[in-house]
Amino acid sequence: MGLTGLEIFKNLPKTNCKECGFPTCLAFAMALANGKTSLDLCPYVSDEAKEALASAAAPPIHMVKVGVGENELEMGDESEIFRHDKRFNHPTVIAIEVKDNEDIEAKVDAINQLEFDHVGQHYESNMVALVNASGDAATFKAAAEKAAAKTEKAFALISDDLAALEAALEVLAERRPLLYAANKDNYEKMTELAKANNAVLAVKGEDLDSLAELVDKIVAMDFRDIVLDPGSREVGKVLVDMTQLRRQAVKKKFRSFGYPTITFTTKDDPQEELVQAGMYVAKYVSIVVMKTAKREIHLPLMSWRANVYTDPQKPVAVEPGAHEVGEVDENSPVYCTTNFSLTYFLVEGEVDTTRIPSYILSVDTGGISVLTAYADNKFIAESIAKAIKEFGLEDKVKHRKIVIPGGVAVLKGELEEESGWDVIVGPRESADIPKFAKEQFA
Ligand code: SF4
Repeated sequence: MGLTGLEIFKNLPKTNCKECGFPTCLAFAMALANGKTSLDLCPYVSDEAKEALASAAAPPIHMVKVGVGENELEMGDESEIFRHDKRFNHPTVIAIEVKDNEDIEAKVDAINQLEFDHVGQHYESNMVALVNASGDAATFKAAAEKAAAKTEKAFALISDDLAALEAALEVLAERRPLLYAANKDNYEKMTELAKANNAVLAVKGEDLDSLAELVDKIVAMDFRDIVLDPGSREVGKVLVDMTQLRRQAVKKKFRSFGYPTITFTTKDDPQEELVQAGMYVAKYVSIVVMKTAKREIHLPLMSWRANVYTDPQKPVAVEPGAHEVGEVDENSPVYCTTNFSLTYFLVEGEVDTTRIPSYILSVDTGGISVLTAYADNKFIAESIAKAIKEFGLEDKVKHRKIVIPGGVAVLKGELEEESGWDVIVGPRESADIPKFAKEQFA
């Protein structure tokens, strides 16, 4: 259990100097007890007090890293139950299983192709989960060799057989893989194997109590690069277990559950698997191991993951400016929108399909959409006219025409007065931009 706010307070200097950003030492202590700040922010804590406070200062969920270099995956280090309180830090790793008795190259190729550029963000699959379905160590090692030659991604090695894991580690130890899984019967040998190979170890319980017991035994062996599997597979039970693990770790500071988590989808139908994986992404799972590598399943899943792991207190915004779409010149049309990322990239996508090189002026509205920004006086004639000047559009094009969104047609007269430009009222929906552009500029 972690320390209470009052226990932490006893170890602080009690000068209320405010240098930590809190009005009093007590406020700082309470925030530290809730995992909302870091002990490093108080410059006056003595070494003895630091030692005493070590457990309170540690994040409630230990950070674990699988993989190396550019493909290193961080997980854990979370301090929240609800994302509206503070953002979740490390997006769920999506691992895709490859059985050692299937066509390894074809499946890994399919995994490698799971890359998407979507509304300004890049998504990709993270991990190959190599499964020892054959039950044979030599086959597992050969599969590890084939898969390693095909991808630089991080690996999970999944087998009940220690000899098979050892054989695959001869190929993949340098990638710092995840070994799955230690259980009550094999945990000593598995922990030694993970230690000897600098690997991460998944720990599988039969229920939450047995999981906590097993974790404590492994930690007593001085090993903490652990990922937790409560062993449940039925969707409702997985959600209950994952919620309990997070609550116990974050709210109760129960250290045995202060590690990232892993679970597996069970549905054979890819669309049902998508729904199942989506729930796990939303409910605290650090690694979800899936079967399908279908692009039409992974794009919506990754998009959902990106949404869950953005900071809800910060709108997703693009840089304000005069953005170029295609090989622009002094005659290129100029469109105007806000710097709300979703709006901007929808407009950009449609402008791109017109095949008419164009400028898009994204006005700084603090990352909010056209009508909201208009209602909040952030997307008005004055701010648009200012952006035209600030981003040098008068030097970039020789005409003086700008297209505004149809939803704010009311700005036309005032913007013409403010800017001296002709204002063309564009479509209300970005999907109508190609037709509009054909009529206006083709
Ligand atoms: S910086 Fe340290 S001593 Fe100063 S108010 Fe914060 S906790 Fe107290």
